[in-house]
Amino acid sequence: MERFDILVVGGGPAGTTVATLCAKRGLAVGLIERRRFPRHKVCGDVLNPNCWPIFERLGAADCINSLPQRRLTAAVFTTQGGSTLTVDHPGLRAISRSLLDAALLNRARSVGVVIFEGEVVHGVTPGWRVSTAHHEFATRYLVGADGRHSLIAQKTGLASPRKRRRPNSVAFQAHFAAPPAMDDRVQLHLFSGGYCGIVRIDETRLNLCIVTDLDGAGHRGDCERLFADTIWRNPQVRALDIAPVPLEPLQSAHPLRTIPNKACGRDAYLVGDALRTYEPFTGQGIFFAMRTAQLAAQTICEGVDYTAAIDALYSERGRTNDLLHQLMYRQRAASVFSSVLARVPALKRWLAGMVLSS
Ligand SMILES: Cc1cc2nc3c(=O)[nH]c(=O)nc-3n(C[C@H](O)[C@H](O)[C@H](O)COP(=O)(O)OP(=O)(O)OC[C@H]3O[C@@H](n4cnc5c(N)ncnc54)[C@H](O)[C@@H]3O)c2cc1C
Repeated sequence: MERFDILVVGGGPAGTTVATLCAKRGLAVGLIERRRFPRHKVCGDVLNPNCWPIFERLGAADCINSLPQRRLTAAVFTTQGGSTLTVDHPGLRAISRSLLDAALLNRARSVGVVIFEGEVVHGVTPGWRVSTAHHEFATRYLVGADGRHSLIAQKTGLASPRKRRRPNSVAFQAHFAAPPAMDDRVQLHLFSGGYCGIVRIDETRLNLCIVTDLDGAGHRGDCERLFADTIWRNPQVRALDIAPVPLEPLQSAHPLRTIPNKACGRDAYLVGDALRTYEPFTGQGIFFAMRTAQLAAQTICEGVDYTAAIDALYSERGRTNDLLHQLMYRQRAASVFSSVLARVPALKRWLAGMVLSS
């Protein structure tokens, strides 16, 4: 039996953040991750500027700065008809998630977190006892950082009984060869029933995500058809001249927006996507994952009120995401909103601030 003060399940940004911060405070921390890193992760690979103060706090900023990446200059939004809205913002970056997550896991290891890679948690009993195929663990605090299909939420009784929100969207993501002339703006293009995001992540590759309703997912195995029926219809995307052959098979994620789970119970906490997921459009998921993890670490080490802190975090930022979510899937409303933003710079600045500023 392995014993820890804190056992974290999941080695994404949420899990490594809470583990690193607690280990730096002198607690004995174990982290169980079912994959071996580096591993691929469905994500748009865009880092919100709000992540950097947390990277600094973790002591990981220099390492992340040295990873291959692109410093982005702006976000460009277009509707299917081709109307365009540009939000200049120098603080955004694009970094492959496989590299980012591996760097954060290494940082956790370097401050003494004991990491069990390639082990899947399957059993959790109150007290807290946790089991994988190879190990039995006992822990005072249990942290579920195991993503949108959280087993820990189920086993600790923190899971919401209702799971899905409307529309019932699915995401597909892969890397593609980047056309040499492609610039460093993240592009978000709306189409009927969804949107796609495209960003260059290094010298040779771009990341492409497609979010569409589940009915559109019939194309899953047929990349060419999925592209033809959705994003190639957008003239701005066609102009990029991307060879529609992914460098690895398309990966998918579903559901995208979940009903929030309970944040905590007796000595058990949920962080990141295990707690709640939002529309990926705003590129805030990694920030929310790390910020909720930071709050959980503060709760465990200093006794802050986790539920109140989570409610405060999501009240304003969550509302902005909800508003954008309403527009993403409504072409006409999105066109009107985008032309209003183009004419009222103060409104555009406010919205960008809600998503990108701390
Ligand atoms: C299409 C799409 C695009 C996105 N684009 C962006 C973006 O550009 N920028 C952004 O900031 N966010 C983006 N997000 C959101 C972001 O990817 C997530 O919010 C973020 O990964 C959440 O981090 P996490 O640590 O909570 O969970 P995850 O990153 O999902 O990590 C959970 C970990 O737990 C492990 N695990 C799960 N179950 C078990 C188990 N039983 N035992 C052991 N280990 C387990 C998994 O292997 C995984 O490594 C996007 C999401 C989607 C779907």
